[in-house]
Amino acid sequence: MHPCVAGEKCCENGGNTLVFVVYDGINNSVFASQVLQPLLKRAKKNQHQKIYLVSFERTLLNEQKIARLVPHRENIIFIQFWRFPFLGKMGLRLSVMQLRSFLRRLPCYSLIARGPLAGWVSMRAVSPASCASYTVQARGLLAQEYELAHPTGRNLVKALFCWIRKKQMAAVEYAAFCPKPELLLAKFRIEAVTPALKEYLVKEYAVNPSHVVLAVDDMPARIVEYQRLVWREEIRNQLHLGPQTHVYCYSGAVKPWQCPDGVVDYFKNELAHNKNSFLLVLTQDVEAFSRVLKEKQLDPKYYALMTIPHDEMSKYLSACDTGIVFREKHIVSWISRPVKAMEYKSAGLKIAHNHTSAWLIDVEKEENTVAVLGTGYVGLVVGSCVAKFGTPVICADIDERKIEFLKNGISPIYEPGVEDLIMSPLLTFTTDLVSAIKKARIIFVAVPTPAQADGNADVSVVKEVAKLIAKHSNDYKIVCLKSTVPIGTHAVVASIIQDYKKGDHTIDIVSTPEFLREGTAVYDYLYPDRVIIGTKSERAYEAVRQLYLRMGCRSEKIIWTDNPAAETIKYVANSFLALKISFINEIANFCDRISVDVLAVAYGVGLDKRIGTQFLKPGPGYGGSCFPKDVQALLSMAQEAGSPLKIMEQAVQINELQRYQVVYKIKNLVGENLRGKVIAILGLAFKANTDDVRKSPAIDIIGLLLKEGALIRAYDPQAMFNLRKELPDITYCLNAYDAAQGAHIAVVLTEWAEFATLDLAKLHPLMKQPCVLDTRNIVPLQRLKASGFRVDTVGRSAIAQDQDMTFIPASADRKKRLSKPAFTAHTVVAEQFK
Ligand code: NAD
Repeated sequence: MHPCVAGEKCCENGGNTLVFVVYDGINNSVFASQVLQPLLKRAKKNQHQKIYLVSFERTLLNEQKIARLVPHRENIIFIQFWRFPFLGKMGLRLSVMQLRSFLRRLPCYSLIARGPLAGWVSMRAVSPASCASYTVQARGLLAQEYELAHPTGRNLVKALFCWIRKKQMAAVEYAAFCPKPELLLAKFRIEAVTPALKEYLVKEYAVNPSHVVLAVDDMPARIVEYQRLVWREEIRNQLHLGPQTHVYCYSGAVKPWQCPDGVVDYFKNELAHNKNSFLLVLTQDVEAFSRVLKEKQLDPKYYALMTIPHDEMSKYLSACDTGIVFREKHIVSWISRPVKAMEYKSAGLKIAHNHTSAWLIDVEKEENTVAVLGTGYVGLVVGSCVAKFGTPVICADIDERKIEFLKNGISPIYEPGVEDLIMSPLLTFTTDLVSAIKKARIIFVAVPTPAQADGNADVSVVKEVAKLIAKHSNDYKIVCLKSTVPIGTHAVVASIIQDYKKGDHTIDIVSTPEFLREGTAVYDYLYPDRVIIGTKSERAYEAVRQLYLRMGCRSEKIIWTDNPAAETIKYVANSFLALKISFINEIANFCDRISVDVLAVAYGVGLDKRIGTQFLKPGPGYGGSCFPKDVQALLSMAQEAGSPLKIMEQAVQINELQRYQVVYKIKNLVGENLRGKVIAILGLAFKANTDDVRKSPAIDIIGLLLKEGALIRAYDPQAMFNLRKELPDITYCLNAYDAAQGAHIAVVLTEWAEFATLDLAKLHPLMKQPCVLDTRNIVPLQRLKASGFRVDTVGRSAIAQDQDMTFIPASADRKKRLSKPAFTAHTVVAEQFK
């Protein structure tokens, strides 16, 4: 039987086995950062994944070295094969045989080949049936590098030999990047380290652009501030360097195209200006580099030449101030060494380069820097996603605590995916808003716009920031308003800028409302349904459009409007979504009365493309930092414009009443008198996967219950820290079971996945009364009932109470059901609590 027939399903996800093939390069200075770190990151993320690191550099990697590189390598297994570099393609074929025989023993696997040689070998060794996905990482180009390493000169025989060799290498590259047809079945992709390399592969090798992704995840992680400072002191002490010495670092080999002469010349020039400078050369080619230094007659007191262990690179870089990346002016120049540059950046180094690498020029140019003012739920996601795609970003905030956290790699908010992204070496965090404004060309404003008492949004912080931008801009700027601002705010901002601006440079205002949802914010930002760019300025539009295209946004998703339309789109979108929630909540209450399952209704209705299934989930009503305030703001604006929005007024009222409906249902289950009753509240965040409790239904509902004398035991996986600031006097528990101890009822208010999988047999005996109100309809009802709980839901009461679910229109039976005292109309419920 074919190995995959038994486990077709397992093969879909690679059988949780990853084979990572490197042909050579283990002895390379970037092996630790480019190969090991990403692999260790994977291993940490997916502890069940078995990773085989296959190398053909047997002699260089002994057990001792491996153990030092990966001390806890439970699921990383090193496999070493022989390689035969002098046998040309024949040698590669021998490598294929070794790898093929190894892969035959794996039933299913994903394979990543690093570089064209590994790609060529792997491509011939993999079995399309057992290989779930096949990636070739493009990092440099063999043929180009060969040409540089072996200039042909005038010797005709040598020239012919070099020409043939170059052609052979190009053929290897071609084969690696355009694999055999069987692998093209959606299993194949190429990771290119830079956009330039992607462009080159597409142009030169006719690689299908849809197969090429940027290897952004392989960028080395930023070294956190406190660690960097500790290492800086340690290494400087070791090198006898004072804190004021400006340390330049060159890390790399002494290949001709890496310009070792140029590096030393550059340093000598810097030294001429500042005698307190020092050159730290980290290389495997100590001898070769020391020859260069001697030739250049650099006084040994100004440099140190070292070979350091791979895993200490970050430590040594932390002691430096500037990293040097020099290249020959040649085609490979504009694609190469981006990861080394990122390694420098990860330690906060400035980069010195000789303008041959277009990618580096892009990264280093100040006009390509983006600033984000306000690093909350929106700003942090925007900043870290922009940085993920190769743009340097400065995130600035007035909250010193937040910035301190971020500098040390800790996200001050809970948002899935953000923790990883904030480690990008292209991200800097600061409380110095002025320097961020000065450095950036595009400035995103993501400061709060809270609701005022009259319902209007308070834009005072936006105005404050606008003044700051006007006063401190020295050049053309594009101010992108990400904050949700009342219609017309762009004009207010423009006039503030006009009033405070010094100089005649232009500052364009772009209204770029943000539609991300907390909990899935990173995904939403990277894969937006649409990007609205509201501006009259074509220049600003093009710059912002390019930024989004660079992040992989499809051009048809980008919509150009004027500012007022963009501002209005945001309010109308949020209001419509709020309306949808209130609508389904009202329908859910109706379904409860007529004994119909609201989930079936919502699903059946939502399948209509004109309606859609999203936001048709009944619950305790909408909350969060956006819907309540944005709907109120729209209502105020509409009122002021003399065009009141009756439908939205109703939506708001229904939402408020839904909180009472929940309390009403609690009373139905545990009795009218709540005094002294213990209520376990499961879920405090306004939705799952966030720690945000702003305007959370839990706050209103707990408030109502406390008023009635109930005792609250609350639990949320992420939001307890934030809720404690609002409600310090309730009991916060360790987990759902702890919250349920002695409770008369457990009320699920947030749809966290862990509540859907509660161990009901464990929960039942802990409670005083086995009673559950699931306002999010996530705990399987049949399981609850089978475990002996009294249950209610929102919109599924009939199932909860074991009633016949068949809805019989216009019959005596239906009349009978409607006549029994089920749920009182909303207004009546509200009356009770006034
Ligand atoms: P937030 O409160 O999480 O973040 C705002 C940040 O701005 C905070 O870190 C705060 O310290 C900082 N700040 C306050 N004053 C500042 C100043 N003068 N200079 C610099 N920074 C300052 O808010 P948020 O949820 O990120 O929302 C920001 C804006 O985006 C709001 O207008 C909101 O309506 C809008 N929005 C929010 C979401 C969302 O899901 N949260 C979605 C779309 C749009």
